Amino acid sequence: MKGVVAKSTGSWYRVLCGEQYYDCRIKGKIRLADMKSTNPVAVGDWVEIEPENAEQAVISTIYDRSNYIIRKSTNLSKQSHIIAANVDMAYLVVTLHSPKTLLSFIDRFLLSAEAYSIPCTILINKSDLYTSDADQQTIAEWTETYQKAGYDIFCVSAHSGENIDTLYRMMENKTVVFSGNSGVGKSSLLNAIAPNVASKVSDISKSHNKGRHTTTFAEMYELPNGARLIDTPGVKSFGLLDLEKEELSHYFPEIFKVSKQCQFHNCTHTHEPLCAVQQAVQNGKIALSRYENYVSCLLDENTKHRK
Ligand code: GDP
Ligand code: ZN
Repeated sequence: MKGVVAKSTGSWYRVLCGEQYYDCRIKGKIRLADMKSTNPVAVGDWVEIEPENAEQAVISTIYDRSNYIIRKSTNLSKQSHIIAANVDMAYLVVTLHSPKTLLSFIDRFLLSAEAYSIPCTILINKSDLYTSDADQQTIAEWTETYQKAGYDIFCVSAHSGENIDTLYRMMENKTVVFSGNSGVGKSSLLNAIAPNVASKVSDISKSHNKGRHTTTFAEMYELPNGARLIDTPGVKSFGLLDLEKEELSHYFPEIFKVSKQCQFHNCTHTHEPLCAVQQAVQNGKIALSRYENYVSCLLDENTKHRK
């Protein structure tokens, strides 16, 4: 039987098969050839299970992942912990103010999501607060910037309910994560979408906040419309990817697309002549803020080691 891992403690796994949950162990040794991971099976993994009775089963096979988010173990530098697998959509929740989300944060998040092959949609939350002309102009600018880069971006409000239905419909049958700085309204949005699930998530988060747990385990929650929300307590952004400077531009989709017309195949789009990327910035096809954040990631020696 095929199921999806909804919870993992490292020694046992809760697997959802249709409507039924099974507590599972791993059968013998299952090897994942390509990775040194502390946990061979992660939340979001699709697995084959063999039931032993109505509640227990063994995991016999792990299916290939479409993507995964990892975090390096702090004590074992070569090992990594898979936080979540097979994420269909990351919703990045941002706000214009209270708190203000920096474009550099957004661009670094999108860079990580691209590097992990996780599609991302940007939600501008707290739209009920954005009544001023200045805010409306900022929304127009952000929308244009990220649409040009190829991302979906739209306003929502957990308080007024704007676009909550749309968001819920988009999540149907998808495995999703909500990310963003604390205070942008992730819990409030979930509460607006699915209050029953939100209360379960907040219980877990509270118990983690007591500080006794050093390792946080992700957990998946089913929503009535078939959406699967992966809650990753304590994980604000994806972070920690070893990217070479040469591949950085591959993860800014609109820069990558245009870069094929640069004179030099190894163009860094900074000082080279006949650079199609710099031309596209000049004529407005690529947003200046995106380009500047690309350059700042390029110059940032810490890009490889950032959290
Ligand atoms: P989280 O840390 O991202 O989970 O953020 P919370 O959901 O805890 O929200 C942080 C604060 O922002 C709370 O005081 C919420 O009431 C408030 N908030 C969340 N969504 C909205 C919204 O759509 N409009 C307004 N005005 N406030 C919001
Ligand atoms: Zn170039």
